Amino acid sequence: MGQVPIPSHGESRHGEDEEKGFAPMSVLTSDDHAEGASVPPSQVDLGPAAALSCRECGERFPLGPIFACASCFGPLEIAYDFPTGDPEALRARITAGPQNIWRYAPLLPVPADVADHPNLNPGCTPLVRADRLAAELGVTGGLYVKDDSANPTHSFKDRVVANAVEAARAFGFTTLSCSSTGNLAGAVGAAAARAGLRSCVFIPHDLEQGKVVMAAVYGGELVAIEGTYDDVNRFCSELIGDPIGEGWGFVNVNLRPYYAEGSKTLAYEICEQLGWKLPDQLVIPIASGSQLTKIDKGLKELIQLGLVEDRPYRIFGAQAEGCSPVSRAYRDGHDVVRPVKPDTIAKSLAIGNPADGPYVLDIARRTGGAVEDVDDARIVEAIKLLARTEGIFAETAGGVTVGVTRKLLADGRLDPEATTVVLNTGDGLKTLDAVAGTTGPSATIRPNLDSFREAGLA
Ligand SMILES: *Cc1c(COP(=O)(O)O)cnc(C)c1O
Ligand SMILES: [Zn+2]
Repeated sequence: MGQVPIPSHGESRHGEDEEKGFAPMSVLTSDDHAEGASVPPSQVDLGPAAALSCRECGERFPLGPIFACASCFGPLEIAYDFPTGDPEALRARITAGPQNIWRYAPLLPVPADVADHPNLNPGCTPLVRADRLAAELGVTGGLYVKDDSANPTHSFKDRVVANAVEAARAFGFTTLSCSSTGNLAGAVGAAAARAGLRSCVFIPHDLEQGKVVMAAVYGGELVAIEGTYDDVNRFCSELIGDPIGEGWGFVNVNLRPYYAEGSKTLAYEICEQLGWKLPDQLVIPIASGSQLTKIDKGLKELIQLGLVEDRPYRIFGAQAEGCSPVSRAYRDGHDVVRPVKPDTIAKSLAIGNPADGPYVLDIARRTGGAVEDVDDARIVEAIKLLARTEGIFAETAGGVTVGVTRKLLADGRLDPEATTVVLNTGDGLKTLDAVAGTTGPSATIRPNLDSFREAGLA
């Protein structure tokens, strides 16, 4: 067994701070057993998932709760044996499936009977045709908001957690855990409650009340840590390497390859909702960069499987100015993402050292997209713009994405004549403070007409 640093959210493998302060842990090699797992690899049924494969060197490993390559420390991804043959048959099978992410089970690391397991069944969220927002922003080619606040715990995180739960089951874990910027903690708490697993989740101590309450209400353990998300993540790396962490599935650490695949369902749904067509442009928020990276993977799979026509698409990443390590690297033309200390109201995106940052840069450059950021004032403006034009109340992360969309249109980097999909990944009710100071009653009156008239509202 080799010793590696944890390449989870908290580490940029290409960064200069590489390997500093990370607890070493064991890695599964081809003939070893995964630590903490009670199920041998040969008995693991995760549907079309065939193996884990290193994103950097391509080495393959049996399916297990591991996330780093034993040879080069690169991140591991799922390799599949996909259904071959007629795309029409696959499309028909998907269309006949349940109204949630499990309709895409043939393309995910989950067993075929996944829909029968107790699970929150996220997905099939609305793709809203946003004509009024489009008019305001000058988009003529069709603008859509993929509204993932409609998931069971009101953020996109239910998609990734649902996949991680299946992996946790397959590997025999009994406790579900995570390091979280807020939404993930709630999603894990809820999913564990439904699945009958114990949960213990970790958050920075200074999160919004809406996030803290949602993480706690499902009855699992919630631990607030005095530090930033990156400190929380580092702590989890220590826990995972310690006997205390035995039997624990950390959805975004030792189950990360499985967890990450859940983001592909956003790509599948968007294309299916567009009538099995690729959009021309997508604007996606970045925390660790996992979501953006896997949406690209999902789009590529749809092309390979013949489910959509093969034509170019462009991917744009969005960050808050107060936590913009990837956008800065993009602007400076760097391949290295230099870690920052976050200071922004967009706390769900506040990862100063994003693990998938270098891959986000690759994708933005390869597809002809970009990575951009907006400041907190413009995040708030964008939340209100989306609410006022489309009746969608986004959390700060949605404000980041809409704000960046507006900026990229203003300086001509997004094509206003192209089909554009903007992601709203979370619900405004979780970040009320962002807008509470600048919204409220138009007037407070006595219950009579004179009073209403006096207020100037008649
Ligand atoms: C976690 C999260 C994201 C994206 O996270 P990645 O780590 O980049 O996959 C986006 N929006 C919200 C609201 C989130 O909670
Ligand atoms: Zn490798």
